[in-house]
Amino acid sequence: PIYFDYNATTPVDPEVFAAMEPYFKQHFGNPASAGHTWGWAAEAAVVKGREQVAQLIGAKSQEVIFTSGATESNNWAIFGLLSKLRENNPQEPVHFITSNVEHSSIMKGMAALTRWNVDVTFLPVDHNGQVQVEQVKKALRPHTRMMSFIWVNNEIGTINPIAELAALAKENKIYFHTDATQAAGKIPMNVTDMGIDLMSFSAHKIYGPKGVGALYIRGKDPKVQLDPLIYGGGQERGLRSGTVNVPGVVGFGKAAELCKKNQAQESAKLRELSQTLWKELQAAIPGVKLNGHPTERAANNLNITLPGAKTEKLMSHLQKLGVSTGSACGTGAMVISHVLTGIGLSPEEVQCSLRLSLGRWTTREEISRAVDILKEGISK
Ligand code: PLP
Repeated sequence: PIYFDYNATTPVDPEVFAAMEPYFKQHFGNPASAGHTWGWAAEAAVVKGREQVAQLIGAKSQEVIFTSGATESNNWAIFGLLSKLRENNPQEPVHFITSNVEHSSIMKGMAALTRWNVDVTFLPVDHNGQVQVEQVKKALRPHTRMMSFIWVNNEIGTINPIAELAALAKENKIYFHTDATQAAGKIPMNVTDMGIDLMSFSAHKIYGPKGVGALYIRGKDPKVQLDPLIYGGGQERGLRSGTVNVPGVVGFGKAAELCKKNQAQESAKLRELSQTLWKELQAAIPGVKLNGHPTERAANNLNITLPGAKTEKLMSHLQKLGVSTGSACGTGAMVISHVLTGIGLSPEEVQCSLRLSLGRWTTREEISRAVDILKEGISK
C-alpha cells in the first residue's frame, strides 16, 4: 500500500530518530536532577529543543510549553484561559467564538463549556471552508473573551485568514488562539508579529515523534496568563508539571529545525505533486470534485468527492492506499465529517469523499499509481 495519510500522522524522519536515540540510552537523566551530569545533559537537550521549536514559529523559547500533543494544548488553551478569567472576575459573563469546522478537540472542548456557563458561538464557514472576518465582527459581544480558529484545516486543507482574525481580536482586546497543528512547519509563520496569543501544535505531524506537542503562550504585549494544567513538581514554568519527555522534546526540536530549513523547497515540491495528482484525477475520473479552497490551501492536501462512488464500496481498492475517508464507522455508528457537511456537502457526497495527504516521501510514481487504483475502483 501507498501512504497518503500524512495529515493523520507522519513517519519519524531518520535524522529525528538519530537525534532522539541517545536520550533513551546514555543521556537518560531527568532534567530536574540539578546535581549531576545525567540531569545536566537532559536539561541542556530540553533547552535546545525548546529553542528549535520556538524558532520555527517565531516565538521566544520561554513562550513554548511542552504538552503531550495538540489535543492537550487545545483543551488547555480553552480551560486554562477560562479558569484564569473566572479567577480574576468570577461574576463576569464569558463568550467564546470558534468555527464549525474545527478539530474535535476544539469542537468538543468548546461544547463542554456550556457546563461552565460560557456562551460559545460556532460560526459557519463559507463553501471553501474559510472563516469570514465580517461574520466574526458581527458575532462580537461585549463579553467576548476568546476566539479560536484552525489555521489549516486538517480535512480539506483550507487556510484561514489568521493574520486578519488575530488583528481583529487584538483590536477588541480578545484573546486569540489558533490550532496550528497542520500549519506549523508547513507554512511560514511568526506568532510574535501576528499578534497570536495562544497556539497549539504537535510533533507527529511534522516528522517528529508522537506524544509530544506544545502550546505557545504569548509572554508580552500583552502577557497571556493561563491557569496551570497539571500541578506537581513545577516543571514547564509551573504550568504543566511532570517529568519532561526528553527524547520527545529532542525529536520535536530536530523535526522543527528540519522543517524550518526545508520549508520553501518542501512545500514547492508538495504543491507540484498535489497539483499533478489533481490534474491526473480530473483526467481519469470525470466529475471528480475538489473540496476546500481552490487556492488558499495547504500544499500537501487534496480532499475529493468521487462522483457516485461511496468510499465504503471502494474499500478493497482504498486498502492499497492509506487514505482517510469523509465518513467512517466509529463505535458502531456512521460518523459523517462535520467539516465536509460544514462546507455544504450532502451526507451522500460526504460518503463519496476522501482525503489524500502527501508528505516528505511521496513520489511522482506513487501519484500515478494512486490515480490508477482509484480509477479502477470506480469503474468496477
Ligand atoms: N488539531 C488538528 C488540526 C489536527 O489535525 C490534530 C491531529 O489529528 C490535532 C489537533 C490533534 O493532535 P494530537 O494528535 O497531537 O493530539
